Amino acid sequence: MQISSFYGRLIIKHNIDVTAYPALEMMPAIKDNVCQRCFNTLDQQWQLPNGIRYCGLCLKFGRITTADTLVTIPEPNMFPSFSNWQWGGVLTRSQQRVVNEIKKHTHNHLVWAVTGAGKTEILFPIIAQALISNQRICIAAPRIDVILELVPRITVVFPTIPIAVLYGQNKEPYRYTQLVICTTHQLLHFRAAFDLLIIDEVDSFPFAGNQLLKNAPQTALKLTGRLIVMTATPTRKHLMTFKQRSYLPARFHGYPLPKIETKVVNKWRILIKNRQLPICLKSYFEQNNQGYQCLVFVPTIHDVTTVTAAIHQQFPDVKLEGVFAQDPERMNKVQLMRNREIQYLVTTTILERGVTLPDIDVIILGADHHNFNSRTLIQIAGRVGRKTSRPTGMVLAIMSTPSWQVLVAQMTIKWLNYQATKGDKDDL
Ligand SMILES: [Zn+2]
Repeated sequence: MQISSFYGRLIIKHNIDVTAYPALEMMPAIKDNVCQRCFNTLDQQWQLPNGIRYCGLCLKFGRITTADTLVTIPEPNMFPSFSNWQWGGVLTRSQQRVVNEIKKHTHNHLVWAVTGAGKTEILFPIIAQALISNQRICIAAPRIDVILELVPRITVVFPTIPIAVLYGQNKEPYRYTQLVICTTHQLLHFRAAFDLLIIDEVDSFPFAGNQLLKNAPQTALKLTGRLIVMTATPTRKHLMTFKQRSYLPARFHGYPLPKIETKVVNKWRILIKNRQLPICLKSYFEQNNQGYQCLVFVPTIHDVTTVTAAIHQQFPDVKLEGVFAQDPERMNKVQLMRNREIQYLVTTTILERGVTLPDIDVIILGADHHNFNSRTLIQIAGRVGRKTSRPTGMVLAIMSTPSWQVLVAQMTIKWLNYQATKGDKDDL
């Protein structure tokens, strides 16, 4: 094992010859009944037959018990000097304002940017500045889809910087790099590693409200490190926690967020069960002559199957797939959509964010279901109109009964669009 593999990493000591690494720092894996990896208190039930206790919360990252030791080597920031990066784009006035605000401040920072505001572009100068300052940087996001979309964009801008890309299913061995892009779960493997940690989509499952990851950002950061979180739909807690905030209400192309249209169809489930479609949905398929792609969001995995079958029954020739979180073909199906090899994708809320497709429309079937809260609906609507080539599009919510959450989403979008017309007018 290379010594650099320990820099800022938290590793269970099993089979490691500690005499080979004099710089290793060791600590008990569990101290005062608190797990030293996820910093949660041990439950009484987490006990082996021999009486040894373990942490049941971070178990899937390798079991650690009261008999184990964790090792690390403090992050030395041993990186080659960095000077140039390649980005030919120009920031909008709003984006530049946010960059200036982030650079001016030094403490933790919240960026509230509407979907399609160009959050990633804001990151480029921030990352460049940190690289030049010899800082170690991590960009984390709760969902793999977001990571996979981020990596190529960052790689193009920083082609000389090696990037460790870490997520559960990635079998590539870990290597020490100045820039890490990973899922938020992977933060548990780091200890005081990063000078700058950026968490994108911070309000998203499975990070938000996750007891396992509650302490992960702070422990992965150095004591002097800085946390920047980004989201289009902050929770009230985020707004209260982060005193330093930047606000980006306008989309980069200056067009407003698409409005959510609604249709009440009382018996849509019965229609679907009988392999039929609500008239508004059927009309859309019949009239979509321009060949726009469409994401059809449904509340449950079961609905993915039934709705896909009903559409196939009515329109046997359309190129259509259904996808859900545990679908082993999930990534392939999203890729088919990106490649325009299929036109329609029926999905649960897993694709509510992170996936950017041009020319897309969205239909939310069963929008009054409790799985669609107002923030989810805003994210889903935000899939539409992302590209300058088609800055508008359709968002249609079909529901059994009028929904308060849909109304809140509609009002919020209206308010955000109003805010966008007020500030940084040179963008528009
Ligand atoms: Zn733990």
